[in-house]
Amino acid sequence: MADWKNWMREANYIAGAWVGADDGATLDVTNPATGEVIGQIPKSGHSETMRAIDAAHAAFPAFAAMDLMGRLALLWKLHDALMDNQDSLAELLTREMGKPLAEAKGEIAIGAQYLRWYAEEARRVKGEIVPAGVNGRRILVTKHPVGVVGMITPWNFPSSMLARKLAPALAVGCTVVAKPSEETPYSGLAWAALAEDVGYPKGVINIVTGDAPAIGGAMMARPELRKVTFTGSTNVGKLLIRQSADTVKKVSMELGGNAPFIVFDDADLDRAIDGVMASKFRNSGQTCVCANRVFVQAGVHDEFVAKLVEKTRALKLGNGMDAGVTQGPLINQAALKKVEGFVEDAKAKGATVATGGMRDQLGGTFFQPTVLTGAKADMEFAQEEIFGPVAPVFKFETDQDGIDMANNTRFGLAAYAYTSDLARAMRLDRDLQYGMVGINSGMITTVEAPFGGVKESGLGKEGGSQGVEDYLDTKYVCIDGL
Ligand code: ADP
Repeated sequence: MADWKNWMREANYIAGAWVGADDGATLDVTNPATGEVIGQIPKSGHSETMRAIDAAHAAFPAFAAMDLMGRLALLWKLHDALMDNQDSLAELLTREMGKPLAEAKGEIAIGAQYLRWYAEEARRVKGEIVPAGVNGRRILVTKHPVGVVGMITPWNFPSSMLARKLAPALAVGCTVVAKPSEETPYSGLAWAALAEDVGYPKGVINIVTGDAPAIGGAMMARPELRKVTFTGSTNVGKLLIRQSADTVKKVSMELGGNAPFIVFDDADLDRAIDGVMASKFRNSGQTCVCANRVFVQAGVHDEFVAKLVEKTRALKLGNGMDAGVTQGPLINQAALKKVEGFVEDAKAKGATVATGGMRDQLGGTFFQPTVLTGAKADMEFAQEEIFGPVAPVFKFETDQDGIDMANNTRFGLAAYAYTSDLARAMRLDRDLQYGMVGINSGMITTVEAPFGGVKESGLGKEGGSQGVEDYLDTKYVCIDGL
Protein backbone atom coordinates (compact mmCIF):
# COMPACT_ATOMS: atom_id res chain seq x y z
CA MET A 1 0.00 0.00 0.00
CA ALA A 2 1.14 3.51 -0.76
CA ASP A 3 1.92 5.81 2.14
CA TRP A 4 -1.10 8.10 2.37
CA LYS A 5 0.89 10.63 4.36
CA ASN A 6 3.45 11.26 1.59
CA TRP A 7 1.73 14.42 0.39
CA MET A 8 -0.15 15.32 3.54
CA ARG A 9 0.81 18.81 4.71
CA GLU A 10 -0.53 20.37 7.88
CA ALA A 11 0.37 23.98 7.11
CA ASN A 12 -0.54 26.85 4.81
CA TYR A 13 1.65 27.35 1.75
CA ILE A 14 2.38 31.07 1.39
CA ALA A 15 5.15 32.61 -0.73
CA GLY A 16 6.87 29.24 -0.99
CA ALA A 17 6.93 28.52 2.75
CA TRP A 18 4.89 26.12 4.90
CA VAL A 19 3.47 28.14 7.76
CA GLY A 20 0.88 27.80 10.50
CA ALA A 21 -1.81 30.28 11.49
CA ASP A 22 -0.39 33.51 12.92
CA ASP A 23 -1.84 32.71 16.33
CA GLY A 24 -1.02 29.00 16.10
CA ALA A 25 -4.70 27.98 16.06
CA THR A 26 -5.62 24.68 14.43
CA LEU A 27 -8.65 22.73 13.30
CA ASP A 28 -9.05 18.96 13.47
CA VAL A 29 -9.70 16.99 10.31
CA THR A 30 -11.82 13.87 10.72
CA ASN A 31 -12.21 10.70 8.69
CA PRO A 32 -15.98 10.47 8.17
CA ALA A 33 -15.87 6.68 7.85
CA THR A 34 -14.32 6.11 11.27
CA GLY A 35 -14.74 9.35 13.19
CA GLU A 36 -10.98 9.39 13.83
CA VAL A 37 -9.07 12.65 13.77
CA ILE A 38 -6.45 12.24 11.05
CA GLY A 39 -4.62 15.51 11.58
CA GLN A 40 -4.74 19.25 12.14
CA ILE A 41 -4.64 22.21 9.80
CA PRO A 42 -4.03 25.90 10.48
CA LYS A 43 -7.10 27.88 11.44
CA SER A 44 -6.04 30.91 9.44
CA GLY A 45 -7.99 34.02 8.56
CA HIS A 46 -7.54 37.56 7.33
CA SER A 47 -3.83 38.25 7.90
CA GLU A 48 -2.53 35.00 6.38
CA THR A 49 -4.78 35.50 3.35
CA MET A 50 -3.49 39.06 2.90
CA ARG A 51 0.08 37.77 2.79
CA ALA A 52 -0.89 35.04 0.36
CA ILE A 53 -2.42 37.65 -1.97
CA ASP A 54 0.71 39.81 -1.63
CA ALA A 55 2.82 36.80 -2.62
CA ALA A 56 0.62 35.95 -5.61
CA HIS A 57 0.57 39.59 -6.70
CA ALA A 58 4.35 39.84 -6.50
CA ALA A 59 4.84 36.58 -8.42
CA PHE A 60 2.39 37.46 -11.21
CA PRO A 61 4.47 39.65 -13.59
CA ALA A 62 7.32 37.15 -13.91
CA PHE A 63 5.02 34.16 -14.19
CA ALA A 64 2.86 35.84 -16.84
CA ALA A 65 5.99 36.81 -18.77
CA MET A 66 7.50 33.34 -18.69
CA ASP A 67 7.93 31.61 -22.05
CA LEU A 68 4.73 29.73 -22.79
CA MET A 69 6.66 26.50 -23.29
CA GLY A 70 8.34 26.94 -19.92
CA ARG A 71 5.02 27.40 -18.19
CA LEU A 72 3.53 24.41 -19.96
CA ALA A 73 6.56 22.25 -19.09
CA LEU A 74 5.74 22.91 -15.44
CA LEU A 75 2.15 21.83 -16.04
CA TRP A 76 3.29 18.61 -17.65
CA LYS A 77 5.58 17.92 -14.70
CA LEU A 78 2.69 18.56 -12.34
CA HIS A 79 0.60 16.12 -14.36
CA ASP A 80 3.27 13.44 -14.10
CA ALA A 81 3.83 14.06 -10.38
CA LEU A 82 0.10 13.68 -9.77
CA MET A 83 -0.15 10.40 -11.66
CA ASP A 84 3.09 9.02 -10.18
CA ASN A 85 1.53 9.55 -6.76
CA GLN A 86 -2.02 8.58 -7.66
CA ASP A 87 -2.27 5.84 -5.04
CA SER A 88 -1.07 7.82 -2.05
CA LEU A 89 -3.09 10.89 -3.06
CA ALA A 90 -6.20 8.72 -3.49
CA GLU A 91 -5.75 7.15 -0.05
CA LEU A 92 -5.39 10.57 1.52
CA LEU A 93 -8.55 11.66 -0.29
CA THR A 94 -10.54 8.63 0.85
CA ARG A 95 -9.39 9.09 4.43
CA GLU A 96 -10.44 12.72 4.63
CA MET A 97 -13.57 12.51 2.47
CA GLY A 98 -14.91 8.96 2.68
CA LYS A 99 -15.45 8.04 -0.99
CA PRO A 100 -14.47 4.54 -2.14
CA LEU A 101 -10.79 4.24 -3.03
CA ALA A 102 -11.56 3.39 -6.67
CA GLU A 103 -13.53 6.63 -7.01
CA ALA A 104 -10.70 8.55 -5.33
CA LYS A 105 -8.18 7.12 -7.78
CA GLY A 106 -10.51 8.12 -10.60
CA GLU A 107 -10.73 11.62 -9.22
CA ILE A 108 -6.94 12.01 -9.17
CA ALA A 109 -6.78 10.80 -12.78
CA ILE A 110 -9.48 13.26 -13.84
CA GLY A 111 -7.49 16.07 -12.25
CA ALA A 112 -4.49 15.00 -14.30
CA GLN A 113 -6.60 15.13 -17.45
CA TYR A 114 -7.46 18.77 -16.74
CA LEU A 115 -3.75 19.59 -16.45
CA ARG A 116 -3.08 17.90 -19.76
CA TRP A 117 -6.07 19.48 -21.49
CA TYR A 118 -5.15 23.03 -20.48
CA ALA A 119 -1.49 22.48 -21.30
CA GLU A 120 -2.83 21.76 -24.80
CA GLU A 121 -5.46 24.52 -24.88
CA ALA A 122 -3.06 27.24 -23.75
CA ARG A 123 -1.22 26.86 -27.06
CA ARG A 124 -4.40 27.83 -28.87
CA VAL A 125 -5.31 30.97 -26.94
CA LYS A 126 -5.47 33.16 -30.01
CA GLY A 127 -6.30 36.78 -30.54
CA GLU A 128 -7.92 38.20 -33.64
CA ILE A 129 -7.32 40.80 -36.31
CA VAL A 130 -10.71 42.21 -37.21
CA PRO A 131 -11.42 44.04 -40.48
CA ALA A 132 -11.77 47.75 -39.72
CA GLY A 133 -14.60 49.80 -41.18
CA VAL A 134 -12.27 52.48 -42.47
CA ASN A 135 -8.91 52.36 -44.24
CA GLY A 136 -5.71 53.13 -42.38
CA ARG A 137 -6.80 51.44 -39.21
CA ARG A 138 -6.07 48.01 -37.77
CA ILE A 139 -8.08 46.37 -34.99
CA LEU A 140 -6.26 43.84 -32.85
CA VAL A 141 -7.91 41.75 -30.15
CA THR A 142 -5.42 40.26 -27.70
CA LYS A 143 -5.74 38.00 -24.66
CA HIS A 144 -4.01 38.46 -21.29
CA PRO A 145 -4.04 36.56 -17.98
CA VAL A 146 -6.36 38.27 -15.50
CA GLY A 147 -3.81 38.29 -12.66
CA VAL A 148 -4.27 36.87 -9.17
CA VAL A 149 -7.12 34.36 -8.95
CA GLY A 150 -8.86 33.34 -5.73
CA MET A 151 -10.14 29.75 -5.68
CA ILE A 152 -12.62 28.40 -3.14
CA THR A 153 -13.42 24.70 -3.40
CA PRO A 154 -15.78 22.18 -1.77
CA TRP A 155 -15.22 18.84 -0.04
CA ASN A 156 -17.02 16.51 -2.47
CA PHE A 157 -14.23 16.48 -5.09
CA PRO A 158 -11.43 18.02 -3.06
CA SER A 159 -8.70 17.27 -5.60
CA SER A 160 -10.31 17.57 -9.04
CA MET A 161 -12.37 20.69 -8.28
CA LEU A 162 -9.10 22.48 -7.64
CA ALA A 163 -7.49 20.84 -10.69
CA ARG A 164 -9.99 22.31 -13.07
CA LYS A 165 -9.37 25.79 -11.71
CA LEU A 166 -5.58 25.49 -11.30
CA ALA A 167 -4.99 24.02 -14.74
CA PRO A 168 -6.36 26.87 -16.88
CA ALA A 169 -5.08 29.53 -14.47
CA LEU A 170 -1.52 28.22 -14.42
CA ALA A 171 -1.56 27.49 -18.15
CA VAL A 172 -2.20 31.12 -19.09
CA GLY A 173 0.00 32.71 -16.42
CA CYS A 174 -2.31 33.62 -13.55
CA THR A 175 -1.16 33.22 -9.96
CA VAL A 176 -3.31 31.66 -7.30
CA VAL A 177 -4.58 31.91 -3.75
CA ALA A 178 -6.68 28.86 -2.97
CA LYS A 179 -8.86 27.90 -0.04
CA PRO A 180 -9.86 24.24 0.11
CA SER A 181 -12.78 23.11 2.25
CA GLU A 182 -11.90 22.74 5.92
CA GLU A 183 -13.61 19.31 5.82
CA THR A 184 -11.10 18.02 3.24
CA PRO A 185 -8.08 20.32 3.20
CA TYR A 186 -5.35 17.77 2.58
CA SER A 187 -6.15 17.03 -1.05
CA GLY A 188 -5.97 20.78 -1.66
CA LEU A 189 -2.73 21.28 0.26
CA ALA A 190 -1.24 18.34 -1.66
CA TRP A 191 -1.42 20.47 -4.82
CA ALA A 192 0.97 22.97 -3.24
CA ALA A 193 3.32 20.18 -2.15
CA LEU A 194 3.37 18.74 -5.67
CA ALA A 195 3.82 22.18 -7.23
CA GLU A 196 6.74 22.90 -4.92
CA ASP A 197 8.25 19.55 -5.81
CA VAL A 198 8.12 20.15 -9.57
CA GLY A 199 9.57 23.64 -9.27
CA TYR A 200 6.80 26.21 -9.52
CA PRO A 201 8.23 29.64 -8.59
CA LYS A 202 7.47 30.87 -5.07
CA GLY A 203 4.23 32.79 -4.79
CA VAL A 204 2.60 31.33 -7.92
CA ILE A 205 0.48 28.94 -5.86
CA ASN A 206 -0.59 29.80 -2.33
CA ILE A 207 -2.99 27.80 -0.19
CA VAL A 208 -4.62 28.99 3.02
CA THR A 209 -6.83 26.90 5.30
CA GLY A 210 -9.14 27.80 8.16
CA ASP A 211 -11.96 30.24 8.78
CA ALA A 212 -13.94 30.33 5.52
CA PRO A 213 -15.74 33.68 5.91
CA ALA A 214 -12.51 35.39 7.06
CA ILE A 215 -10.42 33.97 4.22
CA GLY A 216 -13.15 34.55 1.65
CA GLY A 217 -13.77 38.06 2.97
CA ALA A 218 -10.08 38.96 2.67
CA MET A 219 -9.97 37.64 -0.88
CA MET A 220 -13.06 39.55 -1.92
CA ALA A 221 -11.86 42.83 -0.41
CA ARG A 222 -8.51 43.02 -2.19
CA PRO A 223 -8.48 44.80 -5.55
CA GLU A 224 -5.30 42.94 -6.57
CA LEU A 225 -7.27 39.70 -6.64
CA ARG A 226 -8.92 40.08 -10.04
CA LYS A 227 -11.04 36.99 -10.22
CA VAL A 228 -12.68 34.53 -7.89
CA THR A 229 -13.70 31.06 -8.93
CA PHE A 230 -15.96 29.17 -6.57
CA THR A 231 -17.51 25.74 -6.44
CA GLY A 232 -20.00 25.16 -3.65
CA SER A 233 -23.44 26.01 -2.40
CA THR A 234 -25.69 28.56 -4.07
CA ASN A 235 -25.99 30.56 -0.84
CA VAL A 236 -22.24 31.06 -0.45
CA GLY A 237 -21.96 31.72 -4.19
CA LYS A 238 -24.52 34.51 -3.94
CA LEU A 239 -22.64 36.01 -0.99
CA LEU A 240 -19.39 36.01 -2.99
CA ILE A 241 -21.09 37.59 -6.01
CA ARG A 242 -22.36 40.36 -3.74
CA GLN A 243 -18.92 40.80 -2.17
CA SER A 244 -17.27 40.92 -5.61
CA ALA A 245 -19.18 44.07 -6.49
CA ASP A 246 -16.96 46.45 -4.52
CA THR A 247 -13.88 45.67 -6.57
CA VAL A 248 -15.72 44.48 -9.72
CA LYS A 249 -13.99 41.11 -9.91
CA LYS A 250 -14.61 38.53 -12.53
CA VAL A 251 -16.54 35.65 -10.98
CA SER A 252 -17.00 32.02 -11.98
CA MET A 253 -19.60 30.15 -9.98
CA GLU A 254 -20.29 26.44 -10.02
CA LEU A 255 -23.25 26.23 -7.65
CA GLY A 256 -25.97 23.81 -6.70
CA GLY A 257 -28.01 21.61 -8.99
CA ASN A 258 -31.34 19.83 -8.91
CA ALA A 259 -30.83 17.44 -11.80
CA PRO A 260 -33.86 15.80 -13.38
CA PHE A 261 -33.34 12.29 -14.71
CA ILE A 262 -36.16 11.66 -17.21
CA VAL A 263 -37.00 8.19 -18.49
CA PHE A 264 -39.41 8.10 -21.44
CA ASP A 265 -41.53 5.09 -22.41
CA ASP A 266 -39.25 4.28 -25.36
CA ALA A 267 -36.01 4.28 -23.34
CA ASP A 268 -33.56 1.40 -23.21
CA LEU A 269 -34.40 0.61 -19.58
CA ASP A 270 -31.23 -1.27 -18.71
CA ARG A 271 -29.18 1.59 -20.04
CA ALA A 272 -31.31 4.04 -18.08
CA ILE A 273 -30.81 2.01 -14.91
CA ASP A 274 -27.03 2.00 -15.38
CA GLY A 275 -27.19 5.74 -15.94
CA VAL A 276 -29.29 6.51 -12.90
CA MET A 277 -27.14 4.31 -10.65
CA ALA A 278 -24.00 6.16 -11.76
CA SER A 279 -25.59 9.57 -11.66
CA LYS A 280 -27.45 9.10 -8.38
CA PHE A 281 -25.16 6.99 -6.22
CA ARG A 282 -21.63 7.97 -7.25
CA ASN A 283 -19.94 9.65 -4.29
CA SER A 284 -22.96 8.54 -2.20
CA GLY A 285 -25.08 11.09 -4.01
CA GLN A 286 -22.84 13.97 -3.03
CA THR A 287 -22.26 15.63 -6.39
CA CYS A 288 -23.84 18.75 -7.84
CA VAL A 289 -24.75 16.86 -11.04
CA CYS A 290 -26.35 13.93 -9.18
CA ALA A 291 -29.81 12.91 -10.32
CA ASN A 292 -31.94 14.67 -7.69
CA ARG A 293 -35.38 13.89 -9.15
CA VAL A 294 -36.12 10.80 -11.23
CA PHE A 295 -39.09 11.25 -13.59
CA VAL A 296 -40.41 8.05 -15.17
CA GLN A 297 -43.13 7.92 -17.81
CA ALA A 298 -46.18 5.91 -16.76
CA GLY A 299 -45.74 3.06 -19.27
CA VAL A 300 -42.38 1.94 -17.84
CA HIS A 301 -42.67 3.26 -14.30
CA ASP A 302 -43.26 0.00 -12.43
CA GLU A 303 -40.64 -1.99 -14.35
CA PHE A 304 -38.08 0.79 -13.91
CA VAL A 305 -38.72 1.03 -10.17
CA ALA A 306 -38.38 -2.74 -9.72
CA LYS A 307 -35.01 -2.74 -11.47
CA LEU A 308 -33.83 0.35 -9.62
CA VAL A 309 -34.69 -1.17 -6.24
CA GLU A 310 -32.86 -4.38 -7.10
CA LYS A 311 -29.69 -2.54 -8.12
CA THR A 312 -29.86 -0.20 -5.15
CA ARG A 313 -30.07 -3.12 -2.73
CA ALA A 314 -26.87 -4.52 -4.25
CA LEU A 315 -24.81 -1.43 -3.31
CA LYS A 316 -22.28 -1.99 -0.54
CA LEU A 317 -21.96 0.56 2.20
CA GLY A 318 -18.76 0.87 4.23
CA ASN A 319 -15.32 2.39 4.72
CA GLY A 320 -14.03 3.49 1.32
CA MET A 321 -10.69 1.81 2.05
CA ASP A 322 -12.34 -1.64 2.16
CA ALA A 323 -12.51 -3.76 -0.98
CA GLY A 324 -15.90 -3.98 -2.66
CA VAL A 325 -17.38 -0.91 -0.97
CA THR A 326 -19.37 1.23 -3.41
CA GLN A 327 -20.92 3.68 -0.96
CA GLY A 328 -19.01 5.67 1.64
CA PRO A 329 -20.41 7.69 4.53
CA LEU A 330 -21.89 11.16 4.22
CA ILE A 331 -19.47 13.97 4.92
CA ASN A 332 -20.76 14.95 8.38
CA GLN A 333 -23.66 14.84 10.83
CA ALA A 334 -25.30 17.92 9.35
CA ALA A 335 -25.44 16.22 5.95
CA LEU A 336 -26.89 13.07 7.53
CA LYS A 337 -29.62 15.02 9.32
CA LYS A 338 -30.46 16.89 6.15
CA VAL A 339 -30.85 13.70 4.09
CA GLU A 340 -32.88 12.07 6.85
CA GLY A 341 -35.09 15.16 6.96
CA PHE A 342 -35.82 14.92 3.22
CA VAL A 343 -36.95 11.31 3.62
CA GLU A 344 -39.14 12.08 6.65
CA ASP A 345 -40.74 15.03 4.88
CA ALA A 346 -41.49 12.90 1.79
CA LYS A 347 -42.95 10.08 3.90
CA ALA A 348 -45.18 12.53 5.75
CA LYS A 349 -46.44 13.83 2.39
CA GLY A 350 -47.24 10.38 1.05
CA ALA A 351 -44.08 8.93 -0.54
CA THR A 352 -43.34 5.22 -0.12
CA VAL A 353 -39.94 3.85 0.84
CA ALA A 354 -39.16 1.11 -1.69
CA THR A 355 -35.77 0.36 -0.15
CA GLY A 356 -33.48 1.94 2.46
CA GLY A 357 -34.87 5.09 4.01
CA MET A 358 -32.87 5.31 7.22
CA ARG A 359 -29.48 5.60 8.89
CA ASP A 360 -27.47 2.44 8.51
CA GLN A 361 -26.54 0.12 11.36
CA LEU A 362 -22.87 0.93 10.62
CA GLY A 363 -23.57 4.13 12.58
CA GLY A 364 -21.59 7.33 12.09
CA THR A 365 -22.82 9.18 9.03
CA PHE A 366 -23.78 6.13 6.98
CA PHE A 367 -27.19 6.42 5.33
CA GLN A 368 -28.80 3.55 3.44
CA PRO A 369 -29.10 3.85 -0.33
CA THR A 370 -32.76 4.70 -0.76
CA VAL A 371 -35.48 4.63 -3.40
CA LEU A 372 -38.73 6.52 -2.78
CA THR A 373 -41.80 6.21 -4.98
CA GLY A 374 -44.79 8.49 -5.23
CA ALA A 375 -42.61 11.60 -5.12
CA LYS A 376 -44.53 14.86 -5.61
CA ALA A 377 -43.77 18.51 -6.31
CA ASP A 378 -44.60 19.64 -2.76
CA MET A 379 -41.85 17.52 -1.20
CA GLU A 380 -38.75 19.43 -0.10
CA PHE A 381 -36.36 17.62 -2.41
CA ALA A 382 -38.36 18.82 -5.41
CA GLN A 383 -36.76 22.22 -4.82
CA GLU A 384 -33.58 21.41 -2.83
CA GLU A 385 -30.41 19.43 -3.46
CA ILE A 386 -30.51 16.14 -1.55
CA PHE A 387 -26.73 15.57 -1.62
CA GLY A 388 -27.17 12.03 -0.42
CA PRO A 389 -28.06 8.52 -1.62
CA VAL A 390 -31.81 9.03 -2.03
CA ALA A 391 -33.56 8.53 -5.38
CA PRO A 392 -37.10 9.96 -5.42
CA VAL A 393 -39.18 8.65 -8.33
CA PHE A 394 -41.91 10.86 -9.81
CA LYS A 395 -44.40 9.41 -12.33
CA PHE A 396 -45.39 11.47 -15.39
CA GLU A 397 -47.76 11.02 -18.35
CA THR A 398 -47.01 13.27 -21.35
CA ASP A 399 -43.68 14.59 -22.67
CA GLN A 400 -44.74 18.12 -21.83
CA ASP A 401 -45.53 17.12 -18.23
CA GLY A 402 -42.07 15.58 -17.89
CA ILE A 403 -40.33 18.65 -19.27
CA ASP A 404 -42.39 21.08 -17.21
CA MET A 405 -41.68 19.13 -14.02
CA ALA A 406 -37.98 18.97 -14.90
CA ASN A 407 -37.77 22.74 -15.44
CA ASN A 408 -39.72 23.59 -12.29
CA THR A 409 -36.68 24.61 -10.23
CA ARG A 410 -34.47 27.64 -9.67
CA PHE A 411 -31.47 25.48 -10.57
CA GLY A 412 -30.17 24.65 -14.04
CA LEU A 413 -26.97 22.60 -13.91
CA ALA A 414 -27.28 19.08 -15.37
CA ALA A 415 -30.27 17.18 -16.76
CA TYR A 416 -30.48 13.62 -18.07
CA ALA A 417 -33.01 12.03 -20.38
CA TYR A 418 -33.39 8.56 -21.85
CA THR A 419 -35.21 8.04 -25.13
CA SER A 420 -34.61 6.25 -28.42
CA ASP A 421 -36.42 8.93 -30.45
CA LEU A 422 -34.00 11.34 -32.11
CA ALA A 423 -36.63 14.04 -32.62
CA ARG A 424 -37.57 13.92 -28.95
CA ALA A 425 -33.90 14.18 -27.99
CA MET A 426 -33.53 17.27 -30.15
CA ARG A 427 -36.62 18.82 -28.56
CA LEU A 428 -35.06 18.20 -25.16
CA ASP A 429 -31.97 20.14 -26.22
CA ARG A 430 -34.31 23.02 -27.02
CA ASP A 431 -36.63 22.74 -24.01
CA LEU A 432 -34.57 21.69 -20.97
CA GLN A 433 -33.37 24.82 -19.14
CA TYR A 434 -30.03 23.39 -18.11
CA GLY A 435 -26.36 24.11 -18.83
CA MET A 436 -25.66 20.43 -19.52
CA VAL A 437 -27.90 17.69 -20.88
CA GLY A 438 -27.06 13.99 -21.00
CA ILE A 439 -29.10 12.07 -23.56
CA ASN A 440 -28.86 8.35 -22.82
CA SER A 441 -25.91 9.08 -20.51
CA GLY A 442 -25.72 9.52 -16.76
CA MET A 443 -22.07 10.54 -16.65
CA ILE A 444 -21.34 13.57 -18.79
CA THR A 445 -18.50 15.42 -17.07
CA THR A 446 -15.40 15.38 -19.24
CA VAL A 447 -12.43 17.70 -19.79
CA GLU A 448 -13.32 18.41 -23.42
CA ALA A 449 -16.75 19.85 -22.61
CA PRO A 450 -17.81 23.09 -20.92
CA PHE A 451 -19.16 22.24 -17.47
CA GLY A 452 -21.48 24.84 -15.98
CA GLY A 453 -25.02 25.84 -15.20
CA VAL A 454 -27.70 28.39 -15.96
CA LYS A 455 -30.24 30.07 -13.63
CA GLU A 456 -29.10 29.84 -9.99
CA SER A 457 -26.62 27.06 -10.76
CA GLY A 458 -23.89 29.44 -11.75
CA LEU A 459 -21.87 31.60 -14.07
CA GLY A 460 -19.03 30.61 -16.36
CA LYS A 461 -17.69 27.31 -17.64
CA GLU A 462 -14.99 24.88 -16.54
CA GLY A 463 -13.45 22.51 -19.05
CA GLY A 464 -13.52 22.65 -22.81
CA SER A 465 -12.00 25.45 -24.79
CA GLN A 466 -14.49 27.78 -23.05
CA GLY A 467 -12.96 27.08 -19.63
CA VAL A 468 -9.86 29.12 -20.30
CA GLU A 469 -11.76 32.29 -21.18
CA ASP A 470 -12.60 33.04 -17.57
CA TYR A 471 -8.88 33.38 -16.80
CA LEU A 472 -8.26 35.85 -19.62
CA ASP A 473 -8.95 39.52 -20.18
CA THR A 474 -9.69 40.56 -23.73
CA LYS A 475 -7.97 43.74 -24.89
CA TYR A 476 -8.73 45.69 -28.05
CA VAL A 477 -5.91 47.65 -29.61
CA CYS A 478 -6.64 50.15 -32.36
CA ILE A 479 -3.69 51.08 -34.55
CA ASP A 480 -4.60 54.11 -36.59
CA GLY A 481 -2.91 56.28 -39.21
CA LEU A 482 -1.53 53.35 -41.18
P1 ADP B 1 -20.96 22.75 0.83
O1 ADP B 1 -22.40 22.70 1.18
O2 ADP B 1 -20.58 22.00 -0.39
O3 ADP B 1 -20.03 22.55 1.98
P2 ADP B 1 -20.22 25.49 0.90
O4 ADP B 1 -20.65 26.52 -0.08
O5 ADP B 1 -20.57 25.69 2.33
O6 ADP B 1 -20.78 24.18 0.30
O7 ADP B 1 -18.66 25.27 0.84
C1 ADP B 1 -17.88 25.38 -0.33
C2 ADP B 1 -16.64 26.15 0.00
O8 ADP B 1 -17.02 27.46 0.38
C3 ADP B 1 -15.84 25.59 1.16
O9 ADP B 1 -14.46 25.74 0.88
C4 ADP B 1 -16.24 26.47 2.30
O10 ADP B 1 -15.26 26.55 3.31
C5 ADP B 1 -16.37 27.80 1.59
N1 ADP B 1 -17.15 28.81 2.30
C6 ADP B 1 -18.18 28.65 3.14
N2 ADP B 1 -18.62 29.84 3.59
C7 ADP B 1 -17.86 30.79 3.01
C8 ADP B 1 -17.81 32.22 3.06
N3 ADP B 1 -18.65 32.92 3.81
N4 ADP B 1 -16.89 32.86 2.30
C9 ADP B 1 -16.04 32.17 1.54
N5 ADP B 1 -16.02 30.83 1.46
C10 ADP B 1 -16.92 30.13 2.18
